[in-house]
Formats: sequence, structure tokens, C-alpha cells
Amino acid sequence: MNIRKAAHDISEYVVGLRRHFHMYPESSLNEFETSKKIRQELDKLGIKYEVVADTGVVARIHGKAEGKTVLLRADMDALEIEEKNTHEYVSKNKGKMHACGHDGHTSMLIGAAKILNETKDSWSGTVVLCFQPAEEIAEGARIMIEKGNVLEGVDGAFGIHLWSDVPVGKVSVEAGPRMAGADFYTLTVRGSSGHASKPDQTIDPIVTASSIVMNLQPIVSREMDPIEPVVITVGTFNAGTRFNIIPDKAVLSGTVRCFSKDIWNDIDKKIERVASNIASAYRASIELDYQKKTPPTINDPDASRRARESVVKILGEEGVYLMERTTGAEDFAYYADSVPSCFAFVGIRNDAKEANFPHHHERFQMDEDALEIGTALYAQYALDFLAEK
Ligand SMILES: [Zn+2]
Ligand SMILES: [Zn+2]
Repeated sequence: MNIRKAAHDISEYVVGLRRHFHMYPESSLNEFETSKKIRQELDKLGIKYEVVADTGVVARIHGKAEGKTVLLRADMDALEIEEKNTHEYVSKNKGKMHACGHDGHTSMLIGAAKILNETKDSWSGTVVLCFQPAEEIAEGARIMIEKGNVLEGVDGAFGIHLWSDVPVGKVSVEAGPRMAGADFYTLTVRGSSGHASKPDQTIDPIVTASSIVMNLQPIVSREMDPIEPVVITVGTFNAGTRFNIIPDKAVLSGTVRCFSKDIWNDIDKKIERVASNIASAYRASIELDYQKKTPPTINDPDASRRARESVVKILGEEGVYLMERTTGAEDFAYYADSVPSCFAFVGIRNDAKEANFPHHHERFQMDEDALEIGTALYAQYALDFLAEK
């Protein structure tokens, strides 16, 4: 079966869907109309589905016989951005914009669902279509997995991000860490307040917190393998109300990025150890509110090898693109953490069409020719996965 041709034949349908979703963007966990539209399209295609946590949608297509199960994931939420594009399908929801390409992901997965559903007499196994909310706040994947049980019986998962750093017509599917693990923390340093002229009667949280800031970096430079990139950033440092008062607390907040699951697993404990020991040296104390948001997104070598073969079937060898991993984060990591997975970056960049602004930019655009490629790749990967013993 020529999947590229099948995707080409429905490309107008998929572009139409993408423009519809683009006109009506919705924030994370508020994707009500988006979810309704997805369900309407699945109804038209005769595909049964379940709703997960109000806006998530999961559907299963069964082939002619029992076999393996593969999950295809698309995210559907938009961002709080006022769109500055002027094309005819510009956002109609004020202050909201699909500036990350999730409108494309959802449309491509509906297109792939159509192809897979119409050919289900020719393949064995099960395809799980996972339309996930709330990727931008890194909550949707966990909702789909925990509340929707979408990984039950699943042997492998595949996801796509349309990617503005990759030229249209190219796809990156390398093995290994592809996107960073990303966490957030708030560190409160508690001391004891008093007159700025009598520091001996106080426990100064500003001096303590300053020392903590300076000593978080050696966690990276002295405790980590120098081959492994790790970022610990302090983004805010707030303390005090006026010049002649030593305050009773200082509050730091920041983010951590890394590509190693081992590092991600216990970097919070290292930060806590350093911060609390420094605080006690200054007679102060700390409270660490550490939020593990997403693990690193790591492509399984075998899934990556298969995805490369799928890309070659659709685009030829010249479609394979090599790209450095990125410090952005993706909650697709939660699927990849549970089953062997591949997360593909499908190129949308085309200077001639002004499709060259970064993700989350108010003029973010895509070369819509990429939608046909992404539709084909979802379907091709599923068929290749199910066909392999
Ligand atoms: Zn985004
Ligand atoms: Zn995104």
C-alpha cells in the first residue's frame, strides 16, 4: 500500500482541519471545542472513542486479526498568545493562538486514523489514537496514562512534533535523548528578622540564599559527568522590604534541565542536600518545593530504527534529517518512559512561505505541505510497527 499517496489524496481534508483548529485555539485543559471537533470527525469516520478527563479523546482501531498494539499520540492545546499573522484562517479566539503546531498534530492524526480505518482489513493488531490535552503545561500525558489508561496493552508509542528548525520535507528520528527533562522548584530560605545594623541578632536569609545560589552550580561542575549537559538555573531571587531590615526569608525559584534519566531521578535530592547543609551552616533552614515536570524524552533505538525506515518509505533517504537534541521539554516523555517509543520532528520550515519563526512566536507559521508528510508518517509507522514480529 502506498501510504504517501493515501495521505496525498486526503491532504485537502487534513489542511482544512488544521485551519479549523488554528482558527479556534484553546488553552491547556480547556480544549472543549477542539475535543468536540475531533469526536465529530471520528464519528464521521465511524471510529469509536472514549473521552478522558473532559477533553482527551482515545480511540482504538482493530485490524483483521489479533496482533501487537501501537499508540499514536497528538497533542491539541494552544497558547496564550495574540496572533500577529494575517492569513485568512488567523485565530478567532482573542489572546489564544496555536503557536506550537498542535493544530497540525491533531489534524494529521485524524488523517492517519482515516487511512488506517479504511485499510484495517489489510493489517493485524490494534492502533490506539491518543488525542492528548494540556501538553504545554506538561499535564496531559499523565492524565491520559493515569485516568485514561491509554497504555494498557500497548507495545510501543509514536509521536510527532512539527518542527520549525527542520526544513519541510525532512524528518528527524534519531535514537537517544531528544528533548530535555525539565523541572521547576521554589526554595524558601528561612532566617530571623531584625535591624540591619545588628545582624548578630538575626539569621540573615539573604546571605544564606546568596551562598546557596553560588553553590548550586558545583552540583553540575563537581558531581556530574562532564559529558552530560545539565542546567540548574535560579530565575528569581526575592527578599526584603527596605534597606534597614534584615528579612525573615528569601525565596528562590528556577528550573533544571538534563538529558539523563539517572540524573533527572535524583537531582532534586542533590539540590536539597546542598541547600539544607548550607542553610544549617548559617543557622537558617530551607523548604524545597521541587516539581518534577517531565523526564527527558528518550527515543528507543529500535523504535528509532523503524521510524527511519518509515521516513525513507515516505520521503526517500533524502528525507532523513539529523538534528541536535533540544533543551525544550515534551510530556511525550511519559509514554516513552513506559513503552519503547519514538518522537519524530517533522520539518515545517520554508523561508519562501515565511514559515521560519520559532515555536511560541506570535507569527509562528508552518509550511502546510508538512501535514501530508506527518499524516503519512503516523500511518506508516503504525503499519510498520504492527507488521514486525
Ligand atoms: Zn509548545
Ligand atoms: Zn508543542
